[in-house]
Amino acid sequence: MKNIALDSILQLILSLNYVDTKRLNSSVKQKLDSDIVGKVIAEREDIVSECPHCHSPEFVKHGVTAKGIQRYRCKECKKTFCSLTKTPLYKMRKQDKWLSYVSMMWDGITLRKIAKTLNISLRTAFFWRH
Ligand SMILES: [Zn+2]
Repeated sequence: MKNIALDSILQLILSLNYVDTKRLNSSVKQKLDSDIVGKVIAEREDIVSECPHCHSPEFVKHGVTAKGIQRYRCKECKKTFCSLTKTPLYKMRKQDKWLSYVSMMWDGITLRKIAKTLNISLRTAFFWRH
């Protein structure tokens, strides 16, 4: 989301009355609780301490990815990375489903059942296991 949209929302919030602000607060809390992937990304951003390519601690902020994730550029190897680089969530299109997938795998549910529940192909379910 562009910051312009966020700025507009923040501006609109100022005009809400108390009751509507409480309703908004409840909706925001609900969204935060359901956005497990967003939570994981935010937590990872807090602990980025080195370049995942060369392990140098010397890096600078370098814009954001298309998904709004902070991107960094290493001063040592000049490569760019984000908090998900070299994790299973990097470049994964179905990130939200992947976390549910992992949870079901821990519960010992079969790949076939997981694929059906998450509406992903058996091939994807098989690929993710690796
Ligand atoms: Zn580096």
